[in-house]
Amino acid sequence: MAAFLDEATWGRPSALANCPQCDGVFLLPESGETAVPCPFCGQANLTLLGAESVPPQAENPPELLVPFSANAAQLPQTLARFAQSTRFAPADLTPQNLHGRLRPLFLPMWLIDADAQAQWQAEAGFDYQVVSHREQFHNGQWRTQKIEETKIRWEPRLGTLQRRYENETAPALEQHAQLEQTLGKFRRQEAVAYQPQALGKAIVRLPNRPTADAWPEAQEAIKSRAAEECRQAAAADHIRQFRWSVQFAGQNWTQLLLPLYTTYYRDDEGAVRRVFIHGQTGSLRGERRASMKKARRWALGIAVIAAVLFVLSLVLAAAGYFQPDVLLPALITFVLALGVGITAVLPLLLAWLMNRQQKSLPIT
Ligand SMILES: [Zn+2]
Repeated sequence: MAAFLDEATWGRPSALANCPQCDGVFLLPESGETAVPCPFCGQANLTLLGAESVPPQAENPPELLVPFSANAAQLPQTLARFAQSTRFAPADLTPQNLHGRLRPLFLPMWLIDADAQAQWQAEAGFDYQVVSHREQFHNGQWRTQKIEETKIRWEPRLGTLQRRYENETAPALEQHAQLEQTLGKFRRQEAVAYQPQALGKAIVRLPNRPTADAWPEAQEAIKSRAAEECRQAAAADHIRQFRWSVQFAGQNWTQLLLPLYTTYYRDDEGAVRRVFIHGQTGSLRGERRASMKKARRWALGIAVIAAVLFVLSLVLAAAGYFQPDVLLPALITFVLALGVGITAVLPLLLAWLMNRQQKSLPIT
C-alpha cells in the first residue's frame, strides 16, 4: 500500500516514494503514474513507500517556497537549443521528448528559528576623511593638488544581545553545494509563504541532511546577522573581530522549497541522462552524450563515398592504359578517395571525444 499524505498535511494529497539508487525520498502528486524515473539521479525508477515509512521531514509542510519565475515561454527554445547543439545526438534526444518529460521539482532547504542570548565584543569601524595637499612643479610653475582620503577609525565595542532569529537557512541536501555550483545560486529572498496550490504537479524532494548536521552552518549564518546588527547598533560603518558567547534555545525547524525543472533523455545504452533547468534563471545544465551508433552511420556513409571514388579511380587508371589522357584524372580521384577515406574516422573520433570529456552532472 502506498503511503498517501492526506490534504491536511501538505494541502495536497501526495504519495511517498524513494529512489533505490540514490536513496532520495520524494513526494509525488497523487496521479497514479507508474515508472517515474528518479528526478534527481535518473538511475532508477521511484518506488512507492509503505505507510509505515513516512519520515519526520514529511510530517510538516514547508513554511516558505520560492516560486518558479523562469520565463516558461522560453523553455521549449532552451531545450531545443540543447538537443540541437549536441553532436550525434542519440535518437531519444529530441526537443519534443525533453519538453514532454519536463517536470517541476522542489528542493528543500532548512529554515531555522532560534532564540539567542549572547555577550558580544567587536571592533567597530568609523569612516573619516583626511584632506592633504600635494605640491607639484609642472610646466614652470607650482600647482597644489588636494587629496581626499577615507580612513577608518577602529574602536572596541561590547554588549549583550537577546532576541529571536527567524528563517535562517541551511542546506537540507548533502548535494546542495554541488547543485548551486552547477546550476547557479537560488534567489532565496524571493520566497513567499507556502501555499499548497504553488506545488501544482511538482515533485518535492525531502531533506537527506539531518538538522544536527545543518545546525553549525545555521549558527554561523545567525552570527553574521548578529554582527551586522551590532554594527548598525553602534552606528558604525564596519565591524570586525566579532566574537560572541551565545546560548541558543527554542529552535524550530521548518523548510523552504527551491524551484528546479528536470527532464531527461535516454542514451544509446538506454541509460537516463539528466537535464536540469534552474527554476528562476532558466539556465540549463545537462549531460551530453553522443550516439556512437549515429557516429558510425556517418563514418560508414563517408567510407562508402571514399570507396566509390576509389573504384572510379581504378576504372580511370585501367582506361588510361588505352587513353593516357585520363591518367591524371585517375590520380586526382585516387587522392580524393584517400582524403575522404581518412575523414571517415572523424565522426567516431568526435563522438568519442565528446563522451570522454562530458562528465555526468556532479549531482547524485
Ligand atoms: Zn535517484
